Amino acid sequence: MREYQLYINNEFVGPADGRTFTSINPFNQEVIATFARAGIEETRGAIKAAREAFDRGPWPHMSPEERAALIKAISDKINETSKLLVELEVADSGSTIRKAKEDVYLSARNMNGFSKLALADLNEQLDGVSKPGFSKNMLLREPIGVVAAIIPWNFPLKMAIWKLGPALATGNTVVLKPSQETSVTAMELAKLIHDIGFPKGVINIISGFGSDAGAELTTNPMVDKIAFTGSTIVGQQIMRAAAGSLKKVTLECGGKSANIVLDDADMEMAIDGAMYAIFYHQGQCCEAGTRLMLPELIGDEFMQKMIEKTQRMKVGDPTQMSTDMGPLVSNKQQESVLDYVAKGKQEGAKLATGGGVPKSPECKNGFFVEPTIFDHVDNKSSIAQEEIFGPVLSVIRYKTVDDAIRMANDSIYGLGGGVWSKDTEKAMHVARRLRTGTVWVNEWHLLNERAPFGGYKQSGIGREFGIDGLKEYTESKHVHIDEVGVREKKTWYDTVVPKN
Ligand code: NAD
Repeated sequence: MREYQLYINNEFVGPADGRTFTSINPFNQEVIATFARAGIEETRGAIKAAREAFDRGPWPHMSPEERAALIKAISDKINETSKLLVELEVADSGSTIRKAKEDVYLSARNMNGFSKLALADLNEQLDGVSKPGFSKNMLLREPIGVVAAIIPWNFPLKMAIWKLGPALATGNTVVLKPSQETSVTAMELAKLIHDIGFPKGVINIISGFGSDAGAELTTNPMVDKIAFTGSTIVGQQIMRAAAGSLKKVTLECGGKSANIVLDDADMEMAIDGAMYAIFYHQGQCCEAGTRLMLPELIGDEFMQKMIEKTQRMKVGDPTQMSTDMGPLVSNKQQESVLDYVAKGKQEGAKLATGGGVPKSPECKNGFFVEPTIFDHVDNKSSIAQEEIFGPVLSVIRYKTVDDAIRMANDSIYGLGGGVWSKDTEKAMHVARRLRTGTVWVNEWHLLNERAPFGGYKQSGIGREFGIDGLKEYTESKHVHIDEVGVREKKTWYDTVVPKN
């Protein structure tokens, strides 16, 4: 069993009161790791270290090239350690090995991408403002200060990278708190970072819970910005908590993304795409394609083929390359998903496949739910409106494309969306009308650190990735340099200053 300490001010330390918590493997319920639990005192220690590092340390003033080199070193270390990280991610989160390999590979690649973004010049020369011809005006983008990064359990390593990358690239210092459900790879990351040798206190990683460590991060006046990914309900709590000291807040929250298949779609590809959109990582993705909209003309054939294919999915041991779907992250999550299945039945949707716990001996100790599809779902029902965060697809039949778009937008969320068609113009017509931060055409789930990602409506505030995402970690400063140089020619000369 692995044991992890808190990483504060470049040291590994235990909790003052000796409190710990454990993580279990959701496939077999074996305890795999013990973590020091950061309480309020330890969280304050981590914040203080990050504050000192920002206010008095070299990090915010280092050249972009120096910072980029250290960020790139994290990417290299992830690549060197990838085998272990994959193994641990599978054991800690229930991710299939196929997904975990991709996650670790992408974590390294994204971090490498952030090292390049660290070189981007975000400053701007503003022409002709204030006094055209008589002043020079600049917009400087500077780090905000101490960033508290709070992340969920579904993509533990990737989420840590998505927060650390842009925060560091723009010269901030960070306290990162992984989810109490899946802290293993974030704490492994602390070891890699320690070996690289960042200046003291620039990166602090603390394992702990939302109720104490998380709450302290969101209220402590020494924190300047909160970068949160998690549920909409906790996002709302965080915004309220952060209001006390008016912290900058970016929130990446929940979703209920609609996947619209048009009549002329490549059916086989759209079926695979719809399954990938919902069943990837057991449906535990914020941008999962949870509502599938099918047209009358092809709906029945589409359903028949998709159900047949879904029933062939291999659900079981996540360490096996042949496994398509592993367990959910926890017993709590399994129960919550099964409750939604019961609700779907009560609400009158037609259970087309799945809906239970797999019966194979391989699944007997894990938190599994079968890949589940409900057909003829009413878009107003709870399984079409609420985030289930499990392998449950709600299929909604539509008559006209306008209907499909209207229903897709009839949601409190606005994170992702998709459209399948052979006609790009038709697809673009739909893409433009979807009120979501990302739209995929004949694709799903693809994100890139160079393109902004985030939500409309209650899916979030702000953007992650790309130049937009970097700017979320900066303050804008306008510098006006007077170039008139002559007292009497100042525009304000006649307004206040006595003439004699
Ligand atoms: P969660 O909101 O329960 O927890 C997220 C993090 O917040 C955890 O680290 C938790 O400890 C912390 N936390 C909880 N209460 C807190 C509080 N009061 N103050 C400060 N921190 C607190 O989410 P989860 O169950 O871990 O993850 C699933 C959710 O995350 C889903 O809703 C999913 O849609 C969302 N998610 C969104 C994105 C995105 O980019 N939009 C990506 C992944 C997951």
